[in-house]
Amino acid sequence: MRTQRQVVDYSLQKRAVLRELLAGRIGTYDVCDASPYLKNAARFHGEPTDDRCPICRSENLTHVHYIYGDELKQSAGQARTLAELPVLAMTLREFQVFVVEVCLGCDWNHLVEQYLLGRDGLAEGGPEQGAVGGAAAPTGRRRREAQR
Ligand SMILES: [Zn+2]
Repeated sequence: MRTQRQVVDYSLQKRAVLRELLAGRIGTYDVCDASPYLKNAARFHGEPTDDRCPICRSENLTHVHYIYGDELKQSAGQARTLAELPVLAMTLREFQVFVVEVCLGCDWNHLVEQYLLGRDGLAEGGPEQGAVGGAAAPTGRRRREAQR
């Protein structure tokens, strides 16, 4: 995504968990503990992936996108579909996205990455852009957003 920034990747942590599991220092019951809420979010707002579950290897992983931020008010902490994120990124200044992978087969779940989205990222390199001779454009865009 264009405005994605401050990306934190959790693949190292995930590999460490899988190593611990392989070594028998932790059990599958420690890591396959997806809550009913998380599984519902995966079913209704999840993004299917082509990645096999590293634990059961029989299901593909689903990515769930959770959004956090002051501007979201009561929507903070909710799961959103991937398609909804660019729309939110155009309307909000800044919000945090947490991506969690879930297996609906064995309940494995782990944080994949986190990043910031929002209009603040678009303003970089010229916040005054479009101000000259483009007075009608922002108004039109605002009107379209209001209709959604
Ligand atoms: Zn699984």
